[in-house]
Amino acid sequence: KLSIQRSAARLLSTAAAPIYRNPPSKVRNLIGGEFVESRSGSSIDVVNPATQEVVSRIPLTTNEEFSAAVSAAKSAFLKWRYTPVTTRQRVMFKLQELIRRDMDKLAVNITTEQGKTLKDAKGDVFRGLEVVEHACGMASLQMGEYVSNVSNGIDTYSIREPLGVCAGICPFNFPAMIPLWMFPMAVTCGNTFILKPSEKDPGAAMILAELAMEAGLPDGVLNVVHGTSDIVNNICDDDDIKAISFVGSNTAGMHIYARAAAKGKRIQTNMGAKNHGIVMPDASIDATLNSLVAAGFGAAGQRCMALSTVVFVGGSRPWENELVKRANALKVNAGVEAGSDLGPVISRQAKERICRLIQSGIESGARAVLDGRNIVVSGYEAGNFVGPTILADVSADMECYKEEIFGPVLLCMQANSLDEAIDIVNNNKYGNGASIFTTSGIAARKFQNEIEAGQVGINVPIPVPLPFFSFTGSKASFAGDLNFYGKAGVQFYTQIKTVTQQWKDLPVEGVSLAMPTSQ
Ligand code: NAD
Repeated sequence: KLSIQRSAARLLSTAAAPIYRNPPSKVRNLIGGEFVESRSGSSIDVVNPATQEVVSRIPLTTNEEFSAAVSAAKSAFLKWRYTPVTTRQRVMFKLQELIRRDMDKLAVNITTEQGKTLKDAKGDVFRGLEVVEHACGMASLQMGEYVSNVSNGIDTYSIREPLGVCAGICPFNFPAMIPLWMFPMAVTCGNTFILKPSEKDPGAAMILAELAMEAGLPDGVLNVVHGTSDIVNNICDDDDIKAISFVGSNTAGMHIYARAAAKGKRIQTNMGAKNHGIVMPDASIDATLNSLVAAGFGAAGQRCMALSTVVFVGGSRPWENELVKRANALKVNAGVEAGSDLGPVISRQAKERICRLIQSGIESGARAVLDGRNIVVSGYEAGNFVGPTILADVSADMECYKEEIFGPVLLCMQANSLDEAIDIVNNNKYGNGASIFTTSGIAARKFQNEIEAGQVGINVPIPVPLPFFSFTGSKASFAGDLNFYGKAGVQFYTQIKTVTQQWKDLPVEGVSLAMPTSQ
């Protein structure tokens, strides 16, 4: 134990301080169609997690600048809401084309600021691009309903209208996909938008904002402001902001949910996760092992749908050697390097936290069948790398199980039956996703019906739905009642209005004060 602790401490102490090469560029805000430098005297470094180089700096936007962004969005709404939906869709058609054109530029930026491999970064952009494509069909998505002659000469119909100014607060792990979950749906519904990217990797959001302007989004429809908790609190408190989309940790999410709800706002908050895979003894061996390794260690485990815990029905021992062999074969390197399978974790603090949780698991009785804490990546010695780590014999009372680790760490648990495995998953507070690996339709169907998770995979490790469905996390992984994108996403960004109209020769009967009933 001591030697593990010592080597972990040695590695953490060698992680270098940030490197300032040229003066890092200042990331601008987008306010009323202008990319403007903030007047704020305070800023935060955006650091390349593979090298510790300071890539850029985001400003802590001032209150005045924030108010200017909200005013710009508020006045742009007056015209944008009456812009035909076909015109709004056309901006999205153009935007999807521009995102494809600049895919490489976006991916390089994501790899530089976030650390994931270039191939994975393209996947990040692509999954967001699919939401833009979905928004291109807004005229159909936003359609209302009509019932003719609900009473004599009376028809009733419903229409979905935009809310006004909406806002989005983003996490670091998908710098392109998550902004694209938010503003394309919101603005195509006719809203205007304030986007607050993650302070850790704002670059992709800025490129997307430039592309949205190039695609023809009018000034003030999309605004971008940078900062951390102060700007987030401003978003929660501002009476002109009608709805907030948040993706990130539970600590921030529940704070934002409570604060914004107290102001009467609509809010959707996607939060943390502990996604389980249940492996039945009859599962197809090769495909299951590959799925577990890919979903556990892809993006260095920094996906909200990462499969971080496996429950082996009948025990993990028969699977362990092969799991370790495949995880060990993964190449840990800077995301820009060819052949890299996983890059660094986002920050030095994140690495310290991950190593601490691994250590606490070992101290409470878990077996480290693969320990990636001592990894040194040649040429990137200062990077925040953690190699694939597998802890076996994990139990539900361990801190490493109760906490979301958000790193390349796969926990192995065991159960004697499918019922027992389902109980383990259902007793966990999170409910983002869960998967089963089996060749039995009976087991799969039981799992589908009894599992308490929003996104369920059957022989699919990361069941993130395409945007015509919604992203349906549940339990502690979500707060609100209308999920991101899909039909629920349109409902979230619109207010329904029900109209009852009467067109007939006016009745000659006298006044009746009785409750009207259908005639
Ligand atoms: P985070 O909560 O630290 O930050 C998210 C956003 O909230 C940032 O823009 C940040 O500036 C802001 N913020 C942070 N602390 C705040 C505070 N105290 N008050 C107000 N605002 C605050 O999250 P992160 O580390 O960037 O992202 C990782 C987390 O996001 C993980 O928990 C992951 O599971 C979750 N996540 C969930 C989903 C999902 O769909 N369920 C998707 C991606 C990420």
